[in-house]
Amino acid sequence: MDRNEIIKWLKDNDQNNLKELYRQAYEVKLKHVGLNVYFRGIIEFSNICQKDCLYCGIRRSNDSYERFQMTKEEILGSAKQAYEMKYGSIVLQSGERSDVQFVDFVTDVVKGIKNLSDNTLGITLSLGEQSKETYQQWFEAGAHRYLLRIETSNPELYKKLHPADHVFNERLNCLTVLKEIGYQVGTGVMIGLPGQMLEDLADDILFFKDMNIDMIGMGPYIVHNDTPLGKSVDGDISSKNFELGLKMIALTRIYLEDVNIAATTALQALKPIGREMGLQCGANIIMPNITHTKYRKFYQLYEDKPCLDENASLCRDCLSGRIASIGESIGFNEWGDSPHYFKNRILK
Ligand code: SAH
Ligand code: SF4
Repeated sequence: MDRNEIIKWLKDNDQNNLKELYRQAYEVKLKHVGLNVYFRGIIEFSNICQKDCLYCGIRRSNDSYERFQMTKEEILGSAKQAYEMKYGSIVLQSGERSDVQFVDFVTDVVKGIKNLSDNTLGITLSLGEQSKETYQQWFEAGAHRYLLRIETSNPELYKKLHPADHVFNERLNCLTVLKEIGYQVGTGVMIGLPGQMLEDLADDILFFKDMNIDMIGMGPYIVHNDTPLGKSVDGDISSKNFELGLKMIALTRIYLEDVNIAATTALQALKPIGREMGLQCGANIIMPNITHTKYRKFYQLYEDKPCLDENASLCRDCLSGRIASIGESIGFNEWGDSPHYFKNRILK
């Protein structure tokens, strides 16, 4: 598949053709990563953010959310729950902060999670742009994967989505630094952004390959009405973005083959069975939310975020049933690392 073919598929709205695309993607998935779905319990531990991305509900300038930060004990409590539920790994995500207090707090939490799980829980961080020293410190504490979406690989579009002090090349450089340190690196984009062309999305997929990315976490852009970008959107873009989201998963699976691809919560926000549909189009990772329910309503990157009231064990049971219903199984107690990462290591 080349760029032109990817664009052709992104333009194709014939449901029979798309079924065939999803079938092909599923075959590639079975061949390269198998039928197991891996869980990463995600803990969204703080909505305090120093940045002001124009699309995001918890951007610094939005004063309609109370700001919170979970305590170390609360985070360790959620991680312990994930461990007891046999999730192989967890993700720590929050707004971006780079002060020493925060950096040391995260280091301490990562060490605490390693301790409580006898070193067995895998830890992914998704804490934005940081210095090389900070990434190194967190890696040494025990984190081994990092998720940093490039948001769009088109620098011009990136500029329109962010204030002037958010710099595309700095974000790009972070991905290189993370690789150098030895993290398994994940990136991704938002799909269906105002001003984004289908050609941009095709280039995003080529970008994932060029950057030698191990994991992909991408999802539809969803409006948040308290944001400048959300306010600029006319009409309902959700069903268009949902379908584009599925196509992007399928095309990325076919083009990159052996990476981990998440069926993200944003898919579920637009359709209750959105994540299962993502799995059927080539994704193999799900990130169940294990954040304490009392904080979830304050961590709304976009509107209509699902499962605001479901606790972690309810979420596990509901997901397990849904995954069995599509004939897949869950890799409990396994890290489920990206096969791509290991192939690369051997080649080096
Ligand atoms: N602060 C960190 C992690 C939290 S934000 C960071 O920015 O990397 C995690 C992701 O949420 C972002 O990368 C972005 O792609 C996504 N996001 C933010 N607002 C969104 C929206 N309105 N619709 C869909 N995804 C959104
Ligand atoms: Fe902060 Fe991340 Fe939202 Fe940007 S996307 S405002 S960095 S939480």
